[in-house]
Amino acid sequence: GRRPGRVARVDRGVCTVLTADGPVRATLGGAVLGDAARDPATLPCAGDWVLLASWPDGPVTVEAVLPRRTALVRRTAGKDASGQVLAANLDAAAVVEPVHPEPDVGRIERLLSLVHESGARPLVLLTKADLAADADALARQLAAVAPGVPVLPVSAERGVGLAPLRPLVAPGRTLGLLGPSGAGKSSLVNALAGATVMPTQAIRRVDGKGRHTTTWRALVPIPGGGAVLDTPGVRAVGLLDGAAGLDRAFTDIVALATGCRYADCAHDAEPACAVRAALECGELPPRRYESWRRLQREVAHESRRREARV
Ligand code: GDP
Ligand code: ZN
Repeated sequence: GRRPGRVARVDRGVCTVLTADGPVRATLGGAVLGDAARDPATLPCAGDWVLLASWPDGPVTVEAVLPRRTALVRRTAGKDASGQVLAANLDAAAVVEPVHPEPDVGRIERLLSLVHESGARPLVLLTKADLAADADALARQLAAVAPGVPVLPVSAERGVGLAPLRPLVAPGRTLGLLGPSGAGKSSLVNALAGATVMPTQAIRRVDGKGRHTTTWRALVPIPGGGAVLDTPGVRAVGLLDGAAGLDRAFTDIVALATGCRYADCAHDAEPACAVRAALECGELPPRRYESWRRLQREVAHESRRREARV
């Protein structure tokens, strides 16, 4: 018989799948491998719902990957442009950025574009809030680079700021965490789970596995609730997938652009460009404009490259 399960993590083609009977290790079935040969993005990833088959001689295989509600996709540079799914079926996804030493604004903008593109509800978590002189002021300041997105200070260490996250890990809901190593993601998972389910950096260092942390990264069920997924590979996230996510991450500039004289304005040297005008009068910070231009060039370059291949 076939039974459903949810992929907690994937290690060299072996999936750890959470089922009603507990975690099960499963290899990829023929149909899944066939699909993957045509499109690697169909390979099961953490967060995927799958159907498992058990065989008389022991092995369990993944027979099908169920349609994804949301998918966090990273375009890989190089020949293989099909993209890699980092996480599936996230209801909300948090861009995790520590307040200390200093939040990386460009990284917040890039990861927010990725989350917007995925279909998951975005939020920004300013971790280690206990290390900031005024974390609330910092959150208000950063709201300008995350239009329409909640920016919430949290401290896993002090247990502060967790209440707004509870509904995001309620039964049936999955929260994803994206951010650099050391941002405090594992600590946050533990704080939400109410137990040390993820080894934090300090523990990983003692284990001598500080650098090879990808195998730890997984979907973690929250007792009496949903799940949280610490997303692997985000350190290497480079290329954005599409322009839609970028537009949603920069609604402030998109709104300005509706005032440009020409509908196809490149906001570069065109006359009567409302974006340049906002830049010149100081309404639009140059850093934000440059960040937007850089990500736009990246997306345009990617779509040209993909078109060139078909
Ligand atoms: P990850 O690599 O993103 O999973 O980060 P970790 O959860 O392993 O945390 C990295 C380091 O930051 C560890 O030494 C934690 O003890 C520390 N840390 C995590 N959360 C907090 C916090 O809320 N406040 C402070 N001061 N330190 C924290
Ligand atoms: Zn313009």
